[in-house]
Order: sequence, then structure tokens, then C-alpha cells
Amino acid sequence: MDSSTDELIKALSTLKSAMYELKKVMYEDNFIQSCIDGKINKVKKIYKEFPEINISLENDKAFESSCIHNRLKLSKFLWNKLYKKEEKKEEIIHRVLISVCTKGHLKVVQWLWEILKKEFKENNELKLNNTYKMALYQLCIIDKYKQQKQDTLQWLIKIKYNKNLKKKELENKTYIYILKYILKLKYYEEINTEEICNICYNNTSNCKLNVCIHKYCKECIEKIEQCGYCRTEIF
Ligand SMILES: [Zn+2]
Ligand SMILES: [Zn+2]
Repeated sequence: MDSSTDELIKALSTLKSAMYELKKVMYEDNFIQSCIDGKINKVKKIYKEFPEINISLENDKAFESSCIHNRLKLSKFLWNKLYKKEEKKEEIIHRVLISVCTKGHLKVVQWLWEILKKEFKENNELKLNNTYKMALYQLCIIDKYKQQKQDTLQWLIKIKYNKNLKKKELENKTYIYILKYILKLKYYEEINTEEICNICYNNTSNCKLNVCIHKYCKECIEKIEQCGYCRTEIF
């Protein structure tokens, strides 16, 4: 083979890999767009035709897109088919859940929350609580998705605090209002004890925090934002 043939082979091989990259990008774009549109058959077809497509959770817009656009059936398909076995999925589910709360799609939020509860194993109460807080925060931001967010907000408050807020209470209420409203209701319970409160050293510790085991008097417990002993945040 002379050197010009060599050059030609090299050039062709470069062209081939460039074409492959281009094809991959096109398939990926198409895949993500089909996720946004909720076209489950098209998604299946693309995946079958071109399984090398990079749609792993870590590098993924597909799953998030389908969740954000309220495509529950498609999201479930992607999850079961592709992502269930992956490592480190908690962080991704956490992120996607928060994103979905910016729109407030109840069914998707419920589904993601169940997955998250299973994925965050023991000792991850704090992480789960953190997700809860951030989700609640997104739902409390009043914007054009207000109506869609209300049912989800209601549901989220209910699962943790077992309290139904009236439609009126949910309307035009800010995040701080919701927090105070909930905190006032449910973050501690009253108990009988002889122990003295470790904050004021004055009253008996007649209230116990729900987030941990620690006790304070009623006056003090209503002022704190985190437990003075274990530093667990109250909300
Ligand atoms: Zn006290
Ligand atoms: Zn505590």
C-alpha cells in the first residue's frame, strides 16, 4: 500500500467515527425529545435501534424530562427498564423530585417519593428530611404553577403531619406561613415529666420534639429551630 492509500484509510476512519458521534447525538436528542413529549413507543423504538445511546442516570436528561413533563407511564418505563439497578440513584431521585415540585405533578411526586423512601436506607432519615424540606419549599413558591402545586403541597403536608390544610389556607400563603402553621401544630407533643428544662432551667420539660427524643418546656420549644442537644433540625 502506498502512502496516499494509507492517508485515505485514515481519513475514512476519522470520518466514520465522526459520523457515528453525530448519529449518537441525533439519537440522544430524539430520545430526550420523545421523553418530553411522552411518546413511549418512540422511546422504545429508539432504544432498540440504538442501544449505545448514553442515557445513564448520571448523564441523563431523559428521566428528568419525562418526570418534569408529567409523563408518569414513561418515567416508570425508564426507571424499570434502565435505571433500577444503577448505583447512586438516591441523589438523582432527590434532584428529580425537587425539579418536579417546581411544577407540582402530584402523581409523579408520589411515585418518586416512594422510590426515595426505599432507596434511602437506614440512617438516612436526615437526607430524606432534607429532600422533604426542599420539595416543600419548591411547592410553596407561588408562581404560575400555583394551582398544580396545591394538591401536591396538601399531600406532602399530610404524609408528614397528618393535617389537611383548607384550600383557602393554601392560597396566597408563603413558605414561612406554611412552615409556622405546620410547626405550631405538630413538631412537638406534650408529655408528663418532672425533669427541668435545659434551656431556661425554670420550667419542667413538658414537651418532647417529634424529630428526636429530647424534651424542653413549652415556652422554649416554641422558640427553637433545631434541637439543642442533638442539633437535629426541627423542620
Ligand atoms: Zn424552658
Ligand atoms: Zn434532640
